[in-house]
Amino acid sequence: MTKQDLIELEYKSTLVNDFKRFQDASIMMVDDELLVMEVLQIHLEQQGYRNFTLIEDSRTAFDAIKTDRPDVLLLDLNMPHVTGFDLLELIRTDPSTRFLSVIVLTSASDSATKLKALELGATDFLAKPVDSSELALRLRNTLAVKAYQDQLAYYDPLTRLPNRSLFLDRLELALNLADRSKESVAMMLISLDRFDTVRDTLGPTASDNLITQVSNRLLKALRNTDTVSHVSLMDDNKQLARVSTQEFSVLLPGIPQVERLSSVAERLRNSFQAPFNLDGNEVFITGSIGIALYPDDAQTGEELIKNASAATAQAKAKGRDVHQFYSEQMDVASKERLSLETALRRALEKEEFCLFYQPQICANTGKLIGAEALLRWNMNGEGLIPPFKFIPLAEELGLIKEIGRWVIVEVCKQASAWSQRGLNDLQYSVNVSTLQLSDSLLPVTIEQALVENKVAANHLMIEITESALLGNREMANELLALVKSIGAQLSIDDFGTDYASLSYLRDFSMDELKIDRSFVKDILNSTQDQAIVNSVINLAHDLGLKVVAEGVEDKSQLDYLKSLKCDVIQGFYYAKPMPPEEFYEFWLSRS
Ligand code: C2E
Ligand code: CA
Ligand code: CA
Repeated sequence: MTKQDLIELEYKSTLVNDFKRFQDASIMMVDDELLVMEVLQIHLEQQGYRNFTLIEDSRTAFDAIKTDRPDVLLLDLNMPHVTGFDLLELIRTDPSTRFLSVIVLTSASDSATKLKALELGATDFLAKPVDSSELALRLRNTLAVKAYQDQLAYYDPLTRLPNRSLFLDRLELALNLADRSKESVAMMLISLDRFDTVRDTLGPTASDNLITQVSNRLLKALRNTDTVSHVSLMDDNKQLARVSTQEFSVLLPGIPQVERLSSVAERLRNSFQAPFNLDGNEVFITGSIGIALYPDDAQTGEELIKNASAATAQAKAKGRDVHQFYSEQMDVASKERLSLETALRRALEKEEFCLFYQPQICANTGKLIGAEALLRWNMNGEGLIPPFKFIPLAEELGLIKEIGRWVIVEVCKQASAWSQRGLNDLQYSVNVSTLQLSDSLLPVTIEQALVENKVAANHLMIEITESALLGNREMANELLALVKSIGAQLSIDDFGTDYASLSYLRDFSMDELKIDRSFVKDILNSTQDQAIVNSVINLAHDLGLKVVAEGVEDKSQLDYLKSLKCDVIQGFYYAKPMPPEEFYEFWLSRS
């Protein structure tokens, strides 16, 4: 049986825990005495085995082994022309047969022969004349070992689902069958939503447990001929991936009507509806599903995977717990994204980042008192890209920590350069994203940058958003305490856009609060916004915090905020973010 046949056989049989049934094993015998083989065959047929090839002329044996790929070979040692030893040696040196299970038939007493066969790589021995119960036992053991090895080679140990290599084999087979039958093959890529949070809160054992439960539910919701696999088939570089993640891949062969797929996807999502029980905890999880079809959406297996993956990304972007069919526009979008990704990975080393600075003005005196550093990316030297287009991507790709450290160092260098030109005593604000709160290198970076550039620690203001504080409270606490102990200040950014409880302001000993632009925008017309901003300012002042209003675009907004005793103003009314040289001119013009 060839590997392809093996896969086909597995694929047609039940796909869960499908140790191949031993009786289906293909058994090849090589012996110059036909009668011996026939006797063996009769014994084995009584045990239920039914798949035999008998070879009398050992000169033809090796070719037969290579084409037939039997599961096990029963090999006589004493044969004319080509002996059993010769064959064994050939088998063990040829890569395609190296792992074949070989049971050697010897006369029981001859230990020197046994030793030699063992050295040549025999799997087991069988004494001649053959005892039928011993034969059955040895064969069974050999096949069990083989099945175990197959299990290791083709199945994921955690879920017992087909691993990547078996999945890809099945995919190829399904495409071949589809070509013949003129049916479609669907690939569904299911990504568990918010799995990272689950893993963070429950730990690795519970999340493994969750993965196992999810895989069982998926199997239940699918046909026997569908294949589920817990592997991520694409990695960040859009290469086929090696690692397992929160993703499940489902292969649905033989789809006559594409319209049915929606209901299949719905069934899969519904299978997540009941909570998962993890050590007594009820956990709810949803999945986003991307679907691509062969041959409609893709001409190869690899393309099918890639497109299903693009559809999944789209499903996630739409909101969670939805399914999404692939479309060609997605391809364009994903190609764009890919080139953006590639460029972003190299942006730091190519020194394509720069910082713009936006002035912060004292509401009372109108003096320049600080600046917020805002990141810009000059991708391939083709012009500046604003942060909303690349920061989320940098976060996703795990690049944000490194970029964030670069920002801190750069700001300190700039502060030092300006101070040598007389621009002193400014407060520098730096944005730090949620993911940076788990960057253990951040405090050291801050401390070093301050010292090396002789910047006073209290001149550095670290801006974090409310949502960052909501996420990982413990980790955030620890890191922010370190930042404070260095002497840097903390500001809470975009205040009012999330639901951070006000106690955070005290718990994290914040120094500054920035009222989000969305409140400033309508402040003259919306009495509700007026009330909110008014009470936020009062509260912040009670807690000893300085208040900055962002996005102030005209004089009337400025005057109103002044009347509420807002401390600092930042916005286009005074100045847009600008490159360092322009910022320096701005300072000169105002002093
Ligand atoms: P943010 O922290 O809220 O920054 C203020 C944003 O508002 C800036 O956009 C600024 O150009 C804009 N802005 C300032 N005044 C006005 C105004 O009067 N009217 C209007 N309409 N907009 C105004 P920008 O530079 O595009 O930055 C967007 C966001 O990107 C920032 O929002 C911040 O969350 C993020 N960001 C920027 N630089 C960095 C960085 O170095 N690291 C991280 N992690 N995030 C950054
Ligand atoms: Ca900010
Ligand atoms: Ca802001």
